[in-house]
Parts: sequence; C-alpha cells; structure tokens
Amino acid sequence: MKKHTLIFFFEMERAVENKKIIDDNKTLLDQPTTGIQNNPWRTIFIYLVFGFAWILFSDRILEVLIPDHQQYQNFQTYKGWIYVLFTAGLLYVLIRMDNRKIFTLNYRLTEKNQDLVVFSEEMIAIEEELQNKIEALNHSMASLEKHKTYIEGIYNNSSTVIVIWNLDGIILEVNDHYTTLLGYEKEEAVGKSVDMLLASDEHFSLEEHVTDLVTKGYLKNYEHLIVTKSGAVATMLWNDKVMNAPDSDETYVVSFGIDITLEREKEKQIIELAYKDRLTGLKNKVVFEQELNELIDRNQCFALYYIDFDNFKNLNDVLGHDYGDQFLLEYSKAVDEILDQGHLYRWSGDEFFITELTDDESHIRETIDQLMKLTKRKWHVSKMEYYPSISLGITRYPSDGITVTELLKNVEMALYKSKEAGKGQCRFFDTSYKEEVARLIHIESSISRIIQNQAFELYYQPIFQLDNLEITGLEALLRWNMPDLGINTGEFIDVAERTGQIVEVDRWVIDEAFRFVKDHFTDDKFHLSINLSTKSLISSTLLPTIEEKLQAYGISSHLVEFEITEHSLIDNFDQTLSVIRSLKDLGFNIALDDFGTRFSSLNYLSKIPFDTLKVDKSYIDHVTTDGKDRLIVEQIIQLSERLGIKTIAEGVEYPEQRKALELMKCSYGQGYLMSRPINKTQICDLLKAERTKGEN
Ligand code: C2E
Ligand code: MG
Ligand code: MG
Repeated sequence: MKKHTLIFFFEMERAVENKKIIDDNKTLLDQPTTGIQNNPWRTIFIYLVFGFAWILFSDRILEVLIPDHQQYQNFQTYKGWIYVLFTAGLLYVLIRMDNRKIFTLNYRLTEKNQDLVVFSEEMIAIEEELQNKIEALNHSMASLEKHKTYIEGIYNNSSTVIVIWNLDGIILEVNDHYTTLLGYEKEEAVGKSVDMLLASDEHFSLEEHVTDLVTKGYLKNYEHLIVTKSGAVATMLWNDKVMNAPDSDETYVVSFGIDITLEREKEKQIIELAYKDRLTGLKNKVVFEQELNELIDRNQCFALYYIDFDNFKNLNDVLGHDYGDQFLLEYSKAVDEILDQGHLYRWSGDEFFITELTDDESHIRETIDQLMKLTKRKWHVSKMEYYPSISLGITRYPSDGITVTELLKNVEMALYKSKEAGKGQCRFFDTSYKEEVARLIHIESSISRIIQNQAFELYYQPIFQLDNLEITGLEALLRWNMPDLGINTGEFIDVAERTGQIVEVDRWVIDEAFRFVKDHFTDDKFHLSINLSTKSLISSTLLPTIEEKLQAYGISSHLVEFEITEHSLIDNFDQTLSVIRSLKDLGFNIALDDFGTRFSSLNYLSKIPFDTLKVDKSYIDHVTTDGKDRLIVEQIIQLSERLGIKTIAEGVEYPEQRKALELMKCSYGQGYLMSRPINKTQICDLLKAERTKGEN
C-alpha cells in the first residue's frame, strides 16, 4: 500500500513537471510569432520613409548639383532608375531579413513541436502508467477490503475469545465470541480491567503476569478460570502475545482463550472412571495399588485387610445381580462409615481391601470385630432378610512384607487360609505362609516367562475303550519346554487362572490343538479333547477365537471336544451355559471334567447338553477299595448311560481298576495304566500303530 502510494505521488510530480515544460515552450513560441506578425508594417514604414525622403530631398539635391536644365532632365530619368534600384535593393534586404526570421522561427517551432510530441508521448505513457497504477491500487484496495472483511469474520466468528488489552491491564477490544461466552456487551468490557473476566485466584497477580509477558513476549497454554456475567465459571486455555500497535509505539497484549470446560469435565469423568469403582464410588484397584506404594514409600506402618464374601454368588443367583449390586453398595457405605483411620477400596466383585494406618494389634482386632459385627447384622435385600458372611485376611507393613507384591500375596494367602478354615473366619498372615507365598510369586513369574517366550508345548494322553483298549481319542495337556521350574500343570493353570493369564494360554492351546487335528486326523476315528478354563469360558474373546481358528484350519468341529469343569458352572452358570450352547451350535462336543470333585450336582447333567462325563481320579483311586466310592461311580455310569452321555474314567493306574470299571460298564478310560501324556512325535507314532492295528 505504501509503495503504491509513493509511486503514485512520484508519477504525479513528474506529470506536473512535464506540464510546466509545455507551458514554458508555449511562451517561447508565442514570443517570436509576435515579432513576425509586426514585420510587414515595419517594411512598409521603412519603404514610406525612404520614398518620402527621396521625393522630398532628391529633386532639391539634384537642382543644387546639376544647374543645367537639359542635364537636369536627363538626370531626372536616371534618378527614377536609381530610385527603383534603391527601393528594389531595400525591399530585397527587408524581405530577406524577414524570411530569415521566419525560417529561424520555423526551425525553432519544428524543434519545439518535436519536443512537444515527445512530451505528449511521455504524457500519454505516464497517463497510461498512472492509469495502470490506479487500477492496481484499486485492485489492492479491493483485495485489502476483502481481506479485512475476511479477517474480521475470523476475528468475530471464531470460537476463540480474543481480548486486546494494554500493559495497564485495560481492555481495548474484544471479539464477538467474548460477548457470546461471557454475556457482556463490547461496550461493557472495553475500558475495564482484564481482571473483570478472571475468576479470583490467590495465586494469580496481574502485575506479575504482565511482567512475565513483557519479559518473554508471550505466554503459552496456561489455564485460568473466567466468570461470565451470569456468574458461571468456565475453564479457559489462554495464549497471550505482546504486540506493537501498527501506527504507534504503544505495546499491547492479545489474549486468545479457548473454552475447555467440557474437555476438563470429560477428563474428570474419565479419571473418575479409571480410578473409581462405578458401583460403589470407592477407589478402585488402580488407586489401591498406587496408594499402597505411597504408604510404603513414606514407610508408614499399616494393616492391610482383604475382605471376601462367602458364597456371595448365591445372592446373585437367587435375587439377581441388581440386588447383589445394591447390597454391595449399601455394605461398602456402612464399612466406610465405621473406618476412622482406614481407607476402603473395591478390588473386584465381592472383594474389598482396607488399609489402616496402625500397627497396634488391639486396634486391628477392634476393626476386625467391628467388621464382623457389621456383617452379621440383619440386612435387607429386595425386602428379604439377608445374613452375609465374610472371610478376612490381614497382613501388616513392614513386619510381614515390604513390597506391594509381597503384601498382596501375604494377604491373599491369609484370606485363603481363613476360607480353608470355613465361613466367617479371619486369619493374620503368618510367617509360616512365607514359603507358600514365595512359591506363588515364583509360579507367577515362571508363567510370565513361559508366556513371554511362547515356550508352550502340547502333550497328548490317549483315551481308550476299556474292553478292547482301542484308542478313541486324545486329551491335549499343556506342558512347556523350559528348564525345570518345579511347577506342575495343575499349579500353572490355577495361578494363571487367578492372574487372568490363562486366557492367552488357552488361545495358544486352541490354535495348536486345531492344527494337530488338521495335520493328523485324516478320518473320524479319533477325537481331541481340549481343556477350557473358567476365565476363558467367560472371556468375550473365546467364541470369536474358536470360530476364527475353525475357519482357518477348516477342520470338522465334531472331532473336537471341549472339557469344562464343574467349577466353571458353579461360578458362572448362566454365562457358561450360554457359551456351551454356542459351542454345541458350532458342532463341538462338550465334556464335564473332574466330575465328583466339587458339589457334583447331578442337576447339571439334565440341564446342560453334555456329550461326555469324566469321573474324577479321586473316585477311581478308591473304586476297588472303598465300597461307597464304588457305588457312587457305578450310579454315575448308569445315570449317564440313561441320559445318553458317555463316561470316561480318569486316572486309571491299576489293572484291577480297569477290570472293576469294565464290570461297571464304564466304556472309556484314561490313565497311566494305558498311557501317560506323551509328546507330539510319540502320539503320532502311537496313532499310526493304532491305525495299522485296525487295518489288520
Ligand atoms: P485334567 O483335565 O483332569 O487332566 C487330567 C490330568 O490327570 C492330567 O494332568 C493328566 O496328566 C493326569 N493324569 C491322567 N492319568 C493319570 C494317572 O493315571 N495318574 C495320575 N496321577 N495322573 C493322571 P496334568 O496334565 O498335570 O493336568 C492337570 C490339569 O490341568 C488338567 O486336569 C486340566 O484341568 C488342567 N490343564 C491341563 N492342560 C490344560 C490346558 O491346556 N488348558 C487348561 N485350561 N487346563 C489344562
Ligand atoms: Mg481335562
Ligand atoms: Mg480331569
């Protein structure tokens, strides 16, 4: 803009100068023209003067010079000739002088004309240039205008609050969003202190803020609350920039503010969700572990209580989960109220933790007493009376352990021991548990190493038809190829189940077992049994995994049987039943494993579409020695047969056991007597031999 203006003025000056030159030339031209115009009169005047003088004086001079009349007459004639000659000469001189002047004038005129042509051409060029400049200027002005409108649009329509204020803290200008968000009109804000929009904050000083701003030139991404005209408070994210006014030396500050109230609220909700238990509002396991670490860091003595309800699932099963939840909510509130130096956390389901800042045993016993009394109180759930019972495990820092892992294992072990002792019991961690705890920690870290190294292997134990000892199927059993870790599969599975690592393990087993079926089961002669843990059964990923693998390996689902334990049914009946049904729909067989180890509810057999029932080894062990066990096994076999369920006896170790089972009409058996679990190469050889035997 400035550049254009300068050029414009420069051109204007040039034009004015050129005009001056033209005017000067005009004056110059005017002067000689006047001289030429006067010339004829001058010539005539000279001619008249000469003529009169001749007539007046020539005769008198001739009379004096020539007295003779005759001669005088002759000389009169000569005088006339002389007069003609003189006047001709005079005219010649005068005309020539005029001509010369005209010529000179013409010459100068031509010159001036040429100058004029040049000037006028220049003028046209300048005018054209000027016109172009004016057009460009107009264009720039129009685009500047557009730009201004555009910037104003952004300024006023942006969802950012823009406040321009001077270093005295006085508001100079605000944009439209300011008025929308704060409810103040522009006139109400301009001239006031920026303080008016900020929520009072004892840590904030405008003076310090300005000093900081002036030193740095800007302040980025700082949060400050604002108060609207209606008194509402909003969280704003501010960015301030110190700037100089374009037309003066004045310094001012532009503050850009974004309303992040919603984001902060959402963040708060997310944090609450992440750290608070949804049902009870108590701190969850994440916070629990964090705070446990903090207590240890501060080396503060504390007691850790682990509460677990006895048979809580009965309440859920009878009244439904909503009532179970309602009870847990009320119970947690009541416990929270009786704790003065303690903190209550929800671990999961019906499990809670308490940390209490004390190492005084009598205080701890008092708390236990209060908890037990509170629990034994009559509770009402869904207008029904409910008498809950809890098991309690207690450990102390630092006397029992000094790390979170150690303390958690201790308290878990103490709870386990109190559960072992029956319902409504409480146990303090005892140093005699230390070995067990150490082993638990060892198993957990071993499992992690095995999982990390994917060092799994599947062994296969054949299942035989007891009368002719033909192999009818195999059970896939988990092993790992790592230096002896001193743990067996049962322990591995138990701990992996507790830690949740089992889901990953079972996924690997399913993949490997399906691959085995694809590679080695060329006909329908054998089936393969795969164990499924409770955690896997209720995991949302189980069915999609099985379907995915089924499709990937393209095997027939009826060649696979999934073994589930009673344990899974007791803990999550509805969910387990629904998974079993889905598996059946996919064409898989289902076996009830370890039958007889728990409650052995025959009810399950009629409610769940089992194909196979596996009688637990603990019965088979005494089938030849204990009349009662023998009777039970006999009854189970007969009942299963009537229900169309095939029976497999587990852990057959002696020929007498096999004989007894055969007599009881138990069709199938599995045990060290016939074969131990063996590796893939060995089982392949065995299957090959079995096929050849069949062909012969
Ligand atoms: P289970 O499913 O009841 O498997 C049978 C267990 O009895 C196997 O123990 C097997 O080696 C053992 N066994 C078979 N015949 C005899 C015998 O005559 N005498 C003795 N003393 N034992 C016999 P293993 O392999 O140690 O597995 C223990 C348990 O671990 C299994 O019991 C099963 O519940 C679980 N398990 C094994 N593999 C897996 C797996 O891949 N996934 C899951 N979720 N659990 C598995
Ligand atoms: Mg099994
Ligand atoms: Mg079993």
